[in-house]
Amino acid sequence: NEPLEVVDPEIAAVLRDELNRQRSTLEMIASENFVPRAVLESQGSVLTNKYAEGYPGRRYYGGCEFVDVAEDLARDRAKSLFGAQYANVQPHSGASANAAVLSAIAEPGDTILGLELSHGGHLTHGMKLNFSGKLYNIVGYGVDPETFLIDMDVVRQKALEHKPKVIIAGWSAYPRTLDFAAFRAIADEVGATLWVDMAHFAGLVAAGLHPNPVPYAHVTSSTVHKTIGGPRSGFILTNDLEMYKKINSNVFPGHQGGPLMHVIAAKATAFKLAASDEFKDRQVRTLAGAKLLADALTTEASKAAGIDVLTGGTDVHLVLADLRNSPIDGQQAEDALHAVNITVNRNSVPFDPRPPMVTSGLRIGTPALATRGFGDVEFAEVSDIIALTLQHAAGKGSTSVEELSARVQTLADAFPLYPGLEEW
Ligand code: PLP
Repeated sequence: NEPLEVVDPEIAAVLRDELNRQRSTLEMIASENFVPRAVLESQGSVLTNKYAEGYPGRRYYGGCEFVDVAEDLARDRAKSLFGAQYANVQPHSGASANAAVLSAIAEPGDTILGLELSHGGHLTHGMKLNFSGKLYNIVGYGVDPETFLIDMDVVRQKALEHKPKVIIAGWSAYPRTLDFAAFRAIADEVGATLWVDMAHFAGLVAAGLHPNPVPYAHVTSSTVHKTIGGPRSGFILTNDLEMYKKINSNVFPGHQGGPLMHVIAAKATAFKLAASDEFKDRQVRTLAGAKLLADALTTEASKAAGIDVLTGGTDVHLVLADLRNSPIDGQQAEDALHAVNITVNRNSVPFDPRPPMVTSGLRIGTPALATRGFGDVEFAEVSDIIALTLQHAAGKGSTSVEELSARVQTLADAFPLYPGLEEW
């Protein structure tokens, strides 16, 4: 029972280095967040030792009396947070949740209609190397080439033309809210099942700051680790008992064996926290921060450097920077921000003229910094730093990298991450 430092100093060094990286940089990857100490405690707990195949009260292993309590709490809290009648909290990840959903609602070979990957969809919505693209006949809808918005008339036309078994509403890179009622009307018109993947915006929904898909969707899947800021994992909601039964058997034994009870306990805690006023305040700051960022990337100075924002702004926790008219590509922009200690990811924009490894876009999100404590003042400052860094990289700005890095450091120092964690 020696500590990690002694048993495996190389891995202990990785943990230390990663903590330092998270502390000293500004994390703006839209899908990332910082879990609270309470979540770290559950995930690093003895619950990791427990096998609990099955569901609470119906396990295939003995000794589940305490983990049953954790899973019941996680399910009840998820249901109450999103106003759902049924919840499955066992998926190990968003992708496992989605695999279980698809196998519950479609047979291999069935037609599935979802947002194209290159327009902001997710791998599990039909990418050709993913199980979804291999097993199903995938048909995509894209965004409008002028507005970059999803056009519900186009979704309807595609649905009427292809008669899909499943329609997917949900995205990994789209800066606006979706019209769930319109999606459901189309699904009903063509006899399809509506599956909403709210992985990205679930935290906004929980806070009441984004339309809730649960009343409209036949089934809703999500991750817990993005805007919710809980442990890396997934969950599934529905209001339909028959759907719930299918989901349960497709999660276990369909796609998974023993659930990760330490992660399920951490989900319960994350859902408890997500019902708090503090959580709502964080989501308010997340949204306000994204709007400030969109403003900074649409100024005259940004436009003069060929920088713009898809759809002109955002309704959610992320901004899609559009670099199609900029001399710098997504890779160069990502590298320029990395050089001043801001972490983002490059992202293809729809109809991207540059190849996928280079791209003409950046996806920049505010959830992690909101969790760190950023409010309007700090988001305005980091937005200015980002705009100046990109303008500089595009040959249009005079602010030096040293000055910009120093400003990042001031922000990072003002909001210490996991203070005292070494002593916990
Ligand atoms: N669904 C959407 C919309 C996502 O954006 C993601 C993650 O990026 C996932 C599912 C998959 O989640 P995970 O990475 O936990 O498998």
